[in-house]
Amino acid sequence: MAYVSELGTGQRIYAENRGTQTAITLSSSQAGQQQQASYGFETGAWSGPPELFQTATGFVLKLATDRGNYFIQIQGSNVSMAAGLPAANLQPLSMQQATSPLPSSLPPMPPMQPMQPMTLGNMQMSMNPMEMRMGNMEMRMEPSAPTSSQGTRRFCSQCGAAIKPEDKFCSSCGHRQDS
Ligand SMILES: [Zn+2]
Repeated sequence: MAYVSELGTGQRIYAENRGTQTAITLSSSQAGQQQQASYGFETGAWSGPPELFQTATGFVLKLATDRGNYFIQIQGSNVSMAAGLPAANLQPLSMQQATSPLPSSLPPMPPMQPMQPMTLGNMQMSMNPMEMRMGNMEMRMEPSAPTSSQGTRRFCSQCGAAIKPEDKFCSSCGHRQDS
């Protein structure tokens, strides 16, 4: 079970008991940037929910475990074990049970396969040779297209059929060629 509390100024603390370890995750979002740091402490198994206190210099998390009480102090981005609670200026803060899984326990992204065909909506693209398909349109680029020995190939401006450079009319549709 994980517990979460807002520390103010966009900072949030997660505490979770995993076996005999206590995992502390500090996450902060400032100027659209999400930052996260995790710390692990050997504390034993919790015997109750953690308690969080605000102190003059930061925060202290009190953990009651089967090995006794542990105190973890948070000062800025510094998280360390402390001997106990400071005597003065203690202000208890509430911690909620985290319903969503910890951000750090999300499964990692599968590695990208670089040469696989890419599909985006109705567009499909693959490399080597470069080939692109979009709806019923298809585009292909051969690495080295063989060039005709008769010079530049021409195509009919009307029907697209290949015609010889000296032809005045298209042999396929009879359309007159401009040049
Ligand atoms: Zn033609």
